[in-house]
Amino acid sequence: MADLVVDNWFGKEIVDASTTMLTEPFVHDFVRANIWHLKGRDADLLVDTGMGICPLVPQIGTPAGKPLIVVATHIHLDHVGSLHEFPLRMGPRMSAAQFEDMDDAVTYAYMFHNLEGAVSRSPAPGWKAADYRIPAAPLTRTLDEGDVVDLGDRKFHVLHLPGHSPDSIALLDEADGLFFAGDAIYDGMLIDDLPDSDRAAYCRTMQRLLDLPIRIGHGGHGPSFDGARMREMASAYLRRRERFVSAG
Ligand SMILES: [Zn+2]
Repeated sequence: MADLVVDNWFGKEIVDASTTMLTEPFVHDFVRANIWHLKGRDADLLVDTGMGICPLVPQIGTPAGKPLIVVATHIHLDHVGSLHEFPLRMGPRMSAAQFEDMDDAVTYAYMFHNLEGAVSRSPAPGWKAADYRIPAAPLTRTLDEGDVVDLGDRKFHVLHLPGHSPDSIALLDEADGLFFAGDAIYDGMLIDDLPDSDRAAYCRTMQRLLDLPIRIGHGGHGPSFDGARMREMASAYLRRRERFVSAG
C-alpha cells in the first residue's frame, strides 16, 4: 500500500525529448516546487528535489552506470527535501556548511509544521506535518558564480542570483539558452519577504536577468517562460520596488 501512495505522490510532465518536470501536487502550493530532470550525454541533471515527503529516487529513471548530477538551487525546504537520497549533491558554496545539518531555521521547515492544509492527501498512514524533518545532505561539490556543470553535450554556467535567498544559484547553458532559474525568477508571485530575503540584492539580480539571453527558462515554481516573458517579469518586479521605495 505504501508503495502505491508513493507512486501517486509525484506528478510528472514530459517537457521535451530530454526534459521531464516533476512536482508534488498534494503539498500546499507555497511549497510545491518544480523538480527538473534533464538527460545529458554523459550525465543526467536533476535540478532541485522537492520536499522529501516521499522518496524521489524511484521516480528518476537514469540508466545504470550513468551519473546523475543533482543541483540544489538554494537551501529552502521545497528544493532540498530529497537531496540526501542522491550521491552526487551540488549546491551553493554560500550555504554549503548548512547542508551538513539542514537546520529547520535555515530551510524554513518549521513553517511547514503548522501550515494549514500542508498536504491535501496523506502520503502515508499516520503522517503528520509536525514530524517533517529534512535529513542532512552534505554537498559533494559546491557551486558559485562562473563554475561549470558539464553533461558532456551541454555545459551549464553557474550564476549567483541572490535576493529571494542569499544563496540562490541558477544554471545557464549559453550555447542554446536553456536556463534553470530556481527561485531567482519564476512565473508566479516572487517571494522577497523571508527573513533571509534581500530586496536590494533582488533588484540587482533582476537588472542582470533583463540582459540574460535565454531561449527557455524553467523556474522553481510555475510555468516555464521565454526570454521576453522573463524580461517582463524582471521589469515588473523592478517597477514594483521603485513604486514602493518612492511611496515609502
Ligand atoms: Zn525558496
